[in-house]
Amino acid sequence: MSRVTEEAVRQVLSRVVDPDSRQDIVSSGMLSGLAVRDGHVTFAVEVDPQKGSEMEPLRKAAEKAVESMPDVLSVTAVLTAQSQGKAAPGNAGSAPRGPATDSPQSAQKNGMAPGVKYIVAVASGKGGVGKSTSATNLALALSTLGVRVGILDADIYGPSQPRMMGISGRPTSTDGKILKPMENYGVKCMSMGFLVAEDTPMIWRGPMVQSALQQMLRDVAWGELDVLIVDMPPGTGDAQLTMAQQVPLAGAVIISTPQDIALLDAKKGLNMFRKVDVPVLGIVENMSYFCCPNCGHQSHIFSHGGARKEAEKFGIDFLGEVPLDIEIRETSDGGQPIVVSRPDSPHASVYRDIASAVWSKLEAREGRGRAAPRIVMQ
Ligand code: ADP
Repeated sequence: MSRVTEEAVRQVLSRVVDPDSRQDIVSSGMLSGLAVRDGHVTFAVEVDPQKGSEMEPLRKAAEKAVESMPDVLSVTAVLTAQSQGKAAPGNAGSAPRGPATDSPQSAQKNGMAPGVKYIVAVASGKGGVGKSTSATNLALALSTLGVRVGILDADIYGPSQPRMMGISGRPTSTDGKILKPMENYGVKCMSMGFLVAEDTPMIWRGPMVQSALQQMLRDVAWGELDVLIVDMPPGTGDAQLTMAQQVPLAGAVIISTPQDIALLDAKKGLNMFRKVDVPVLGIVENMSYFCCPNCGHQSHIFSHGGARKEAEKFGIDFLGEVPLDIEIRETSDGGQPIVVSRPDSPHASVYRDIASAVWSKLEAREGRGRAAPRIVMQ
């Protein structure tokens, strides 16, 4: 167990001086979002957006200072610019923005998807746990509840929404700048998969990942939506962290399998959103148990119920369990997700319950959203 504490990190950072203001980054209030977990340290240095890349040496110096501390295993320092000017002095705590003061319409302030009420990330600690399947069915289930929904496939390493939503073709633009989203089953959809052929190898560097997501929020005519579901890239690396930080998310839903919980990958997802101050709306346990297609017998291949227990331990809501069922796989991989193709099935009803829980939580949080800090660079 590492003994690194936030206080110790803050102390080290209080010796890192911004040459411009000649003040250290702690007392000047530039340090924000400091999180320390088992020797892994993450923080942001808030700078004047005009200065941008000039501040990179300061970020590096801060990162180096923390790296040299004993017991520190990794350091992630990012430069951010507050959407409304520089950080206020004294704002050096680990929760830089008071959630009570920002409205959920913060998306509008950043010019990202201005007509969207809530942007919700669907994330997972690693790939292959059914994140995209869950994101699609959740979006469709919300739509059946009468909520106006869009789905943004931010999994640009392996976009699956065109296939799962059963959409092909390319989005069009009337003015050459703003793309019209594609649409099926009454849900608007945008994915890098529409713009790049599926077999094209995509080597994305962090900054390209970020700008692709920003563009899909800014340069797509999403129109008026209640919820935009963002199917995040799997994992909790820097690219995901930055995405979570730069998008004005109203909340996040974590998808995990029982096995994934056992291996602690789901926790990394929880921690990632906590680090960037995004409320985790709850956990869904996917492939929770196996449903025999012949006799209906339920087998618990992995230790069942882990997500519920884990959620309780973390004080996070458990949103529901979805079984491992061939029908779920066939329908989503075939572009006819179970919520729309078998609306009377028990699985569709599980997704509708999850959707209604998510919607109630979003509505209950109204007036308590947060504005996204803007990443200048990494
Ligand atoms: P991820 O987005 O986490 O990489 P996907 O949603 O692409 O995962 O799912 C991976 C594979 O598992 C897909 O073929 C999908 O159809 C299948 N799958 C996902 N959830 C289930 C489930 N509950 N039952 C059966 N198959 C599932």
